[in-house]
Amino acid sequence: MNEYDSDRIKNAIDAEPTDDPKKADIIIVNTCAIRDKADQKAFSSLGKYKHIKANNPDAIVGIAGCVAQLYGDKLLKKIPHLDFVLGTRSIPKLPEIISKIERDKRRTVETSYDLEELFEVEPYHKEGKVTAFVSVQQGCNKRCTYCIVPQVRGDEVNRPLNDILRETTNLVNKGVREITFIGQTVNSWKHDGNKFGDLIRAAGDVEGLERIRFTTSYPRDITKRMIDAMKDVPQVCHHLHLPVQSGSNNVLSNMKRTYTREWYVDTILRLKDALPDITISTDIIIGFPGETDRDFQDTMSLMKEIEFESSYSFKFSPRPGTVAAEYAEEETVKADIASVRLSELQAFQKDITEKKNLSRVGQIEKVLVEGESRNDPDVLSGRTDHNRILNFNGAKDLVGKTVKVKVTEGLLNSLRGELII
Ligand code: SF4
Repeated sequence: MNEYDSDRIKNAIDAEPTDDPKKADIIIVNTCAIRDKADQKAFSSLGKYKHIKANNPDAIVGIAGCVAQLYGDKLLKKIPHLDFVLGTRSIPKLPEIISKIERDKRRTVETSYDLEELFEVEPYHKEGKVTAFVSVQQGCNKRCTYCIVPQVRGDEVNRPLNDILRETTNLVNKGVREITFIGQTVNSWKHDGNKFGDLIRAAGDVEGLERIRFTTSYPRDITKRMIDAMKDVPQVCHHLHLPVQSGSNNVLSNMKRTYTREWYVDTILRLKDALPDITISTDIIIGFPGETDRDFQDTMSLMKEIEFESSYSFKFSPRPGTVAAEYAEEETVKADIASVRLSELQAFQKDITEKKNLSRVGQIEKVLVEGESRNDPDVLSGRTDHNRILNFNGAKDLVGKTVKVKVTEGLLNSLRGELII
């Protein structure tokens, strides 16, 4: 979501990005408050630009995103070289803010928003990029007790279908072959009687669009209508990121996740019934207040039962203003216990991911070639339908094409293969 917003910011001011902050006319630190110490990280990033501003008083320095929304005008008091604070839903107002600062030399805070123009600014798209995000929703109506998103991004607002399809079609016309629809609970999208399954079907009719992904799905909002659409629309990739957070019903209830472990497992079975080769990844929070050893063992048994393709796991850290941050001291899981549990879970996941990647050796995968591999410019890189990175040797003009690659090696974070002619 933040990457998408950064691209919207670039487009809003029609900016040419630079890697050298000394050459920048405008410096914007886009922040995220979901993880621990986000505010300190934001302040430390902004601190680096103090000298730039001192040497070039015309440079404009701003902060955007969750931390900006959360602290508002307090940031102007705390950081003297900061020119503006831009809330999560205020990106369309950015050009006006910049003009005002240039004209009046007045520092500005803008954390309000106008529903009409919420999705108005589309993201900057780098020429030649074959994948892109399209936002279908902002904010969240769930109230998970650990999460700061509803506070900093507001209630769920869904984007009209035609607007989503227009942006998708424009991107496809620019050469994009894979779209990822994004929203905090993307599959709760609904608009004018249409539900998420209808959005998938409509996207499947966009000519030239080869792949459809979406993230992040909320388990409780996986419906038959959605699963049927995933099955019927051939462009839908057979990979789903479905955060479970815990395998313990006690913890899930304390998190207010609105589903049980049994309900989650049944949802995976329904998905596998429709799409037998679907792969699932997840998010796990370890050491949520009150998590007992038994609760943790329930999470481990879920990991063993599902065998997720991959998982993002973190130790719980309280976010200010959330319900979970107010839990009594005695509920807190000691840091050393949480660390041991996290290591056990991550070691297990590593083995499963390696095993799954090894099991793909010999298989032929369809890969959308995205560009050069990160570590070797002579090697091409793309992702499989199941969202695994697959690197192989091939000519540069294959970028943007979907090719067949035989997997020859299964590593922890990627696969290696040979192009099939
Ligand atoms: S569904 Fe996701 S974004 Fe919404 S409150 Fe829960 S964790 Fe936060």
